[in-house]
Amino acid sequence: MANGTASNGSTLKIHNARFILTVDAGRRIITDGSIFVEDGRITQVGKAREMESVPADRVLDASEMVITPGMINGHAHISYAHATRGIFPDTLGADYLPNVFKLQGELDEEAEYCTSLLAITEMLKGGTTCFMDPGSTKFIDACMDAYNESGCRIIVGMHVTDKPNPVNLPQYETGEAIAIMEHAIREYDHRLNDRVRAWAMPFSPSFSTEEMLRGAKRLADEYGTGITLHTSNSPSEVEDSLQEHGLRPVEYLEKIGVMGENVLLSHLIGVNDAEMDAMARGGSTTVMCPSQTLKQGTGITRIGKLPELLDRGISVGLGTDAPNNSNLMETMRAMYLAAVLYKDGREDISMIPPETALELATIGGAEAFCLADEIGSIEVGKKADMVLFDTRRAEWRRVFNQVNTLVYNSDGRSVHTVIVDGRVVIEDYKPTYVDEWQLIQRLQAIGEELLAKTGISFPSTWPVV
Ligand SMILES: [Zn+2]
Repeated sequence: MANGTASNGSTLKIHNARFILTVDAGRRIITDGSIFVEDGRITQVGKAREMESVPADRVLDASEMVITPGMINGHAHISYAHATRGIFPDTLGADYLPNVFKLQGELDEEAEYCTSLLAITEMLKGGTTCFMDPGSTKFIDACMDAYNESGCRIIVGMHVTDKPNPVNLPQYETGEAIAIMEHAIREYDHRLNDRVRAWAMPFSPSFSTEEMLRGAKRLADEYGTGITLHTSNSPSEVEDSLQEHGLRPVEYLEKIGVMGENVLLSHLIGVNDAEMDAMARGGSTTVMCPSQTLKQGTGITRIGKLPELLDRGISVGLGTDAPNNSNLMETMRAMYLAAVLYKDGREDISMIPPETALELATIGGAEAFCLADEIGSIEVGKKADMVLFDTRRAEWRRVFNQVNTLVYNSDGRSVHTVIVDGRVVIEDYKPTYVDEWQLIQRLQAIGEELLAKTGISFPSTWPVV
């Protein structure tokens, strides 16, 4: 079957897995398990022996595999970045975003299609089946081809600002900004068999007027979709908000009515108790990006509040942020960091057990996206998004404690097969939809062109001879 697709009435059986980490309501781990998929949805999960005689159009032998739900990356800007990965020095500081938007400004449609396809391929190969690009897409139409071909699940949108900002983002009239967000939702929400969702994406409270923020929330409510914005990326953003509104960022959002289950506030470094209480009252969700805050030095080990957010019952997912600020795009690395950072930061090894970390990377992300009825676990009725980890590797042996081994020992290198919406998109470690090396070579040329056009270059600290 072409590309291993399991749509159009076809069936797929993933048979005889060593372990299935279902992350279902009972958090069952099934030994010697099988999963049956029909039309992209899971119709049966159980013991292999019970499904031995069930025929399928395609059967995948999972006998040395551990299967998990697909990982969910709740905050991952892609766009231009894979063409110029790793060019920024650590000392760039506040000049980071102006450089990003200068590079992105020179990107054309074909280039963004290519950069997006490589970014998606890297994420899929690391076990991420669903991610949110929080508004950085410049040419969604061209990128739709990349989403279609790769088979990924994505939440997309256009980020907008209607206030002066120091980061080279275009400043729109308020009405125009709202129209841009509405257009993205009308045009793209629920496309590609519902694999694409489109949300309202005002960049941040500090670059948005109250009217625009209220407009974005109104769109999310009217269209039954979501709104996300960068909130409290760093302690300085909290200071700015206090100066401008006399309120901290989350308090301000609550005051103007931008709070609710469909409001996802990403980053949240340095929220205080009152802000977390406001989120719990309003039902808002969050995504935290440990690899980004570590690399940018914004204080996660000192002022991060993941345990307190979870204590309040707030839905939390994990993100990686961008390929040029955290540089690590693998949700599994964020999962590992979530499990270890607070142990050290609080000098308390009971913080964020591995089971919690796995929840954050799967069902937690699904809850943060308001998609927990559809994805985030391996259960009958859910979409067939899952990862097969190859245990025929040193880091997986022996598999005594599956969750410990997954979170602490392994990483994306053992991702053998990835299935999204019932379609096999990574098989035997390779993408089924693209010649990856050819794509990488194309990206090299695009990157060189972008740097030449913008004049952006940062010399190496060490002499390159
Ligand atoms: Zn971001």
